[in-house]
Amino acid sequence: MPEISTNKRINDFLADEGKLLINNEWRSALSGKTFDTPNPTTGQTLATVADAQAEDVDAAVAAARTAFEGEWSALTPSARAKYLWKIADLIEEHAETLAELDSLDNGKPKLQAQFVDVAVSADVFRYMAGWCTKLEGNTMTVSTPYAPGAMFHSYTLREPLGVVGLIIPWNFPLMMCAWKLAPALACGNTAVLKPAEQTPLSALYLGELLIEAGLPAGVVNILTGQGETAGAPLSAHEDVDKISFTGSTEVGKLILGAARGNLKKVTLELGGKAPNIIFADADVQAAAEGAANAIFFNQGQVCCAGSRLYVEAPIYDQVIETLSTIARSIKVGDGREADTVMGPLVSAEQLARVSGFVEGGLADGATASAGGARIGGGGYFFQPTVLTSTRPDMAVVQEEIFGPVVVANRFENLEEVVAAANDSIYGLSAGVWTKDISRAHRVAKRIQAGTVWINCFNVLDASLPFGGYKQSGWGREFGHEVLNAYTQTKSVVAMI
Ligand code: ADP
Repeated sequence: MPEISTNKRINDFLADEGKLLINNEWRSALSGKTFDTPNPTTGQTLATVADAQAEDVDAAVAAARTAFEGEWSALTPSARAKYLWKIADLIEEHAETLAELDSLDNGKPKLQAQFVDVAVSADVFRYMAGWCTKLEGNTMTVSTPYAPGAMFHSYTLREPLGVVGLIIPWNFPLMMCAWKLAPALACGNTAVLKPAEQTPLSALYLGELLIEAGLPAGVVNILTGQGETAGAPLSAHEDVDKISFTGSTEVGKLILGAARGNLKKVTLELGGKAPNIIFADADVQAAAEGAANAIFFNQGQVCCAGSRLYVEAPIYDQVIETLSTIARSIKVGDGREADTVMGPLVSAEQLARVSGFVEGGLADGATASAGGARIGGGGYFFQPTVLTSTRPDMAVVQEEIFGPVVVANRFENLEEVVAAANDSIYGLSAGVWTKDISRAHRVAKRIQAGTVWINCFNVLDASLPFGGYKQSGWGREFGHEVLNAYTQTKSVVAMI
C-alpha cells in the first residue's frame, strides 16, 4: 500500500495503534477494544486507536487526582507557566505534522490547519501561560452588623477546581485541545481530555509533545473513545470536579444531567445559528466575501458560522449573486492540495446530515442559488450552498446544519431584522455589515449573542471572551473570564 504522506513521522504515527495516555504511559484500553478513524477524503481507514471504556476513565481520573494532590499543586505559578510556554514552542516546532494530521483526520485544508488551528493553539498556550502568575484575589477590611465594633482582615484566593474533564468536538481537533487544556493547566488543575471519536489523532500527537515538554505524570490524561462509552462516564464521574464541554446543544444537555450526581461544575460551548446582517450602505463586495468566509470556512463546521444571512432589500440581488459566484468558484478537494479552499465534511454521518437538511429545505420550497448537492466519489464532499426563498419556520433556517449551507433572507428595516436575528434558540455569534457606525453599535447591542462582529466575521482571539447566550452555552472561554471557568474563589477572614 502506498504511504499516505511524504512525512515519515506521519506514516509511522498512523501505522502504530493509538493508545490512551494515562499517567504519562501509553496504554491499550483495558478491554482491548479499538476503533478505526477514517480519512474523510477517501472514506478509507486512516488509523486505529484505543476505545476507552468506563474502567479506563477510572484509571485516568485516578492518575489526574494523584497528580493534582501531589507534584502539580506544589509547583509555583511561574513553573507552571514554563510548561505552557514549552508546549507552545513544541506545537510550533511540529506545526506541519500537526496540520497534516488534522487535515487527514478532519478533511480540512492543511494550510488552514497550519495557519489557523496550529497557530491559534500555540498562541492560546502562550496567552494562558501569562495568567499563571496573575491569578490574584482581592483584599478587604470587613465588619458585620452582628459583631459591632469588630474588624476583619479578609482576602480572596483563586484556587483550582481539581480534576477537570475536557470533552471536545471534531471541527478543530487540535485547537479545541488547546482551548481547554491551556486554561485548565494555567489555573492549576489536572485534566482528562476526551477528543472526538471522529478526530482523535492530533490529540494523541499532542500527548507525545506534552511528555516531551516534561509535564509531570497524570497532569494530562488523554482518552480516545466514543461519547456514550467514554464521554458519558467521564461526565458522570464522582471524582471529576468539572466538565468543560464543546459540542452539540443536545449532548450539552446530557452532560448537565450526568453532572448532577456530584454537582460538578460545568461550562458548555454549544451550537449556533448565527445571523449575518448586511445593510444597504455596506461595501457590497467586502460583505459578500465576508458572508462567504463566514459560512464556508472549515466547510461550515463551525459553531459560530454565519449560517443565516440577512440582506437589506436594495442590495439583496447583488449580494446573492456575488456570494453565489464565490460559492461556485470555491475549490473543493483534497485538503492537502495547496489550492484547496474546502475539504470534505468530517464523516459519512455529517454528510448525511447536511444532505438531509438541504434536501428537506429544497422540498419545503427553498431554491439553491449555488450548490445544493453532494460531490460524488469516495469522500464526504458537499458543494458550498446558498439557499434562497426560505421561510422563518423552515428547519434549514431554525436548526444548526453544521455544514457549508447558508440561508439567505431579505429584510426591509432594522426592527424587522433584529427581531428575525433574535428568533433563534441559539445566541453564540452574529455579524453586522454597514458603514453607519452608530447603527452598527445599536444593532450589536440589541443582538442576543456572545460575540458580534462588525464588518468582519470569525475573528477570535485568546484575549476575547467567547461563549453563548441562550442555548449556545454556559460560561466563557478566553480572556480573563475563562479564569472563572477553571478556578473557585475562597474568602479568608481574620479577626484583627
Ligand atoms: P457532533 O454531534 O457534532 O458529533 P457531539 O456533541 O455529539 O458533536 O460531540 C462532541 C463531543 O461530545 C465528542 O467528543 C463526543 O464523543 C462527546 N459526546 C457525545 N455524546 C456524549 C455523551 N452522552 N456524554 C459525554 N460526551 C459525549
